[in-house]
Amino acid sequence: MTAEVPQGVPPLVLLVEDEPQMRRFLRRTLESHGYRLVEAETARQGLAHATAHNPDVVLLDLGLPDLDGLELTRQLREWSQTPIVVISARGEEASKIAALDAGADDYLTKPFAAGELLARIRVALRHAARSASGREEPVVTFGAVRVDLARRLVFRSDVEVHLTPNEYKLLAAFARNPGRVLTHPQLLREVWGKSAAAEPHVLRVYVNQLRQKLEDEPARPRYLRTEPGVGYRLRTEG
Ligand code: CA
Repeated sequence: MTAEVPQGVPPLVLLVEDEPQMRRFLRRTLESHGYRLVEAETARQGLAHATAHNPDVVLLDLGLPDLDGLELTRQLREWSQTPIVVISARGEEASKIAALDAGADDYLTKPFAAGELLARIRVALRHAARSASGREEPVVTFGAVRVDLARRLVFRSDVEVHLTPNEYKLLAAFARNPGRVLTHPQLLREVWGKSAAAEPHVLRVYVNQLRQKLEDEPARPRYLRTEPGVGYRLRTEG
């Protein structure tokens, strides 16, 4: 098995979760893959640990006994850029989307598999490392597609793909955030700006156009994935 965690000091995960069983599962999974862990059972404890320990990533349950995870996301984002992966139960869709819009990086819906959790944490850590270095990947690839962000060119199997300006803006938003879920409002802002009156269905039209141009099977997209009720995600691995 290949190393899950980059070399050096193992990343520190702050886990904010009030259910003992869920904490046990997460502790076992994370520690067996080399992560260090601090645990909090309430939002207030989580905030205190975040300040004291400066974790590399926060795993945040939305349904907490004191404050909800959405409020904690807002409070953390006032001073911290630490990636936040939200853990939500079914029925918390609205809070989940609000948490992503408030600056959470990703979400997992219970129940989820250990492999999925580890993949999301790796994506969040990589993204944070890129942001911290102030360096965006100039070229992003997925399948046979190569997006050259510096030159604003897109290739598929080494043949240039012609995109409209809005298609390119949308694809560039995905390429700058590989593996991350992007919500409808985030994507609409990226393409049409803050004052945009564009609707999610317009987004669907553009995503479909990109799939037609970039996916092998546009009806069964492998890379430009729909996150139902939330937004879209560019998968670049697996
Ligand atoms: Ca809970």
